[in-house]
Amino acid sequence: MIPKHSAVFLFLIAVALLSLAHAQTSILGFTPAHSTSETEIESKFKSIPSPEEERRQHRVFTAEPHVAGSKRNNELADYIAAEWRKQGLEDVVIHRYDIYGTNPKSASLEMIAPTRYQATLRETPLTGDPDLKNPSISGAWLGMSISGDVTAPVVYAHSGNPEDYDLLRKNGISVKGKIVLVRYSNPYSYRGFKALTAQREGAAAIVIYSDPQEDGYKKGKVGPGGPWGPEYHIQRGAITYDFMVPGDPLTPGWASVPGAKRILIEEAISAPKIMALPLSWHDAKPLLENLDGPLAPQDWQGGLPIQYHLGGERVKVHLKIEMDNGTQPYYVVEGRIHGSELPDEWIVMGNHRDAWVFGGVDPSSGTASMMELTRSLGKLAKEGMRPRRTLVVCSWDGEEVGLTGSTEWGEQFAEELRAKAVAYINVDEATSGPNFHGQAVASLAPMLAETTHTVQDPSGKSLYDAWKASVAREKAEGTQSGQMNDSGVVDENLADTRIGSGSDHTVFLNFVGMPVIGLQFDGDYGVYHSAYDDFYWMNHFGDPGYKYHTLMSQLWGVTALRLANADLLPFDFASYASNVRQFVNELAKGKDMSQLDLTAVRTEIDNFEAAGKQLNESLKSKLKSGTVDSKLALTLNHGMMQVERNWLNPDGIPGRPWFKHILYGARFTYAHLELPGLTEAVEAQDWPTAKQQAEILQRALSNNTQLLDKLNASLTQTSAAAP
Ligand SMILES: [Zn+2]
Repeated sequence: MIPKHSAVFLFLIAVALLSLAHAQTSILGFTPAHSTSETEIESKFKSIPSPEEERRQHRVFTAEPHVAGSKRNNELADYIAAEWRKQGLEDVVIHRYDIYGTNPKSASLEMIAPTRYQATLRETPLTGDPDLKNPSISGAWLGMSISGDVTAPVVYAHSGNPEDYDLLRKNGISVKGKIVLVRYSNPYSYRGFKALTAQREGAAAIVIYSDPQEDGYKKGKVGPGGPWGPEYHIQRGAITYDFMVPGDPLTPGWASVPGAKRILIEEAISAPKIMALPLSWHDAKPLLENLDGPLAPQDWQGGLPIQYHLGGERVKVHLKIEMDNGTQPYYVVEGRIHGSELPDEWIVMGNHRDAWVFGGVDPSSGTASMMELTRSLGKLAKEGMRPRRTLVVCSWDGEEVGLTGSTEWGEQFAEELRAKAVAYINVDEATSGPNFHGQAVASLAPMLAETTHTVQDPSGKSLYDAWKASVAREKAEGTQSGQMNDSGVVDENLADTRIGSGSDHTVFLNFVGMPVIGLQFDGDYGVYHSAYDDFYWMNHFGDPGYKYHTLMSQLWGVTALRLANADLLPFDFASYASNVRQFVNELAKGKDMSQLDLTAVRTEIDNFEAAGKQLNESLKSKLKSGTVDSKLALTLNHGMMQVERNWLNPDGIPGRPWFKHILYGARFTYAHLELPGLTEAVEAQDWPTAKQQAEILQRALSNNTQLLDKLNASLTQTSAAAP
């Protein structure tokens, strides 16, 4: 008995070891032999990025303020181009776009009643951080504010969302012609939406301050001793209505190359028509403590040791803003490594360069990671390990102003991208802490999860295990931001597949129709868009050993290399189908949904899923067979690349024609919005439009099912023809 059991046991161990070995060497999209060579390339690649180099590059980018359009930011474009050439990147070029400028000439805010207070609009230096004494640190300003001079009473409007104004109305308080004081909000709501709401309400100006409850001492230790925002920190930012159309407001839908046609600023729908200024809580407090009117409700009270009132009469403020709206050149740096076998299939990567001040986290952590990524890729190419497909890398400009550089570049090359691009991988902030947040369109979610197995988190676990643990923890704590998916922590659902706006992936997903991936590490971070987001902050709080920067370079590169080297692209359309089903299920919970028949949509989702599952199986067995004929690979890969393009509706979503993707969109707050055209119509109870949008969705699903059926047929034909 015992020997027999042992034999069975040993056999089981052998099977387990074999399958483990298989799991380690088989990579989605690769034949067994190519999985092995890919693993070798990746090991070599992962050994190159170093924390010392990450830190050295981070210092280059954080040495001086480098806002879009500034001399320093343009010098950094030249620096990147020169570095990339040295690193071995090819065809390095700098694209110029002429953009409607929005830099401040001057700004002042003075309370003139009931007492006088002149706002400092500056950030004081902190002990131990010499960078904060830099005289070129800007004062308080918001990009795309209009110029103006107004003296008016102040009303406190909480977060400045539409429902906040309803509450003011109930209290008999009008904001017409007045200055509204609102606070930045957590969870994040884009400040441009606050500005639009104030504009719609007829306010003369909006002032947005950072309450200590959201990102200051109520959260924990503030600078210089902790990561949270100190008394004087100012969250700069833009208020551009880029949820309507991003990029240069004067060229909606086409590129701002020198000499391009331009519309008038008065006609630009993304240009705000309101004055706006940010404040530190130090500058907001004198206003808040003098406000009259009813006591603000409990959830409007903030972290300052005062009672917040709604205001409306007593506090009067004189606000003056003068902007420079001359045309400004923005520069996008582009470099590439030509693919050895498939040069006309592109993996595009990018990070923005411009920062509100030093950009310690946002974006220079990403820029440093990108520089180590390109150095490592260049080194591989120099040593003969050239990717099969072409890698295109871009340093964007003016992301902070209106996703501007990436939008103009994407619009300029849209046709070529639709023909050649496999995917876009975005890194904005690489790291403000240890918690990984990976986003991907649903078809790339499984490959992203698989990729995280192969890089190591500084905690010693694989990034995959660290990621899983942090998603589980967030779910358990119930602190899950709206960004995390709520479908359980299984591999297919590890990546956040709900992609809103707010960074440079927008043009590629929503306008060009490219699958996108976004990579980021998060942590306690209370100095966003302030001068305190700098080299000191990163070295004391964000990533003191630059380990997460290094991990980001590794992860970014391995993800790109898998897409670049795969025999058959690692898309999973069954995963896409089940995500779309989830989106539809959530929509179906809406009010009065009996008005809308979604049966046909559901049938098409089932068909698409069945075709996707069959394709997954066929691709897997094709790869397992060891060889994929290059003609067949071309058919399959180009077919799969077409799927994302097929989610575009050329007319765009109702009211926002630039946003063409029918599965992914963003609310005005930048929050993710699935099935945007359909969902907005349902929320507005506009049933004719909802029916139309459902039909568009149904047609796109059916087109993609037919496309996958064709790919499935091409696979069976070849295997039937095989001897
Ligand atoms: Zn950023």
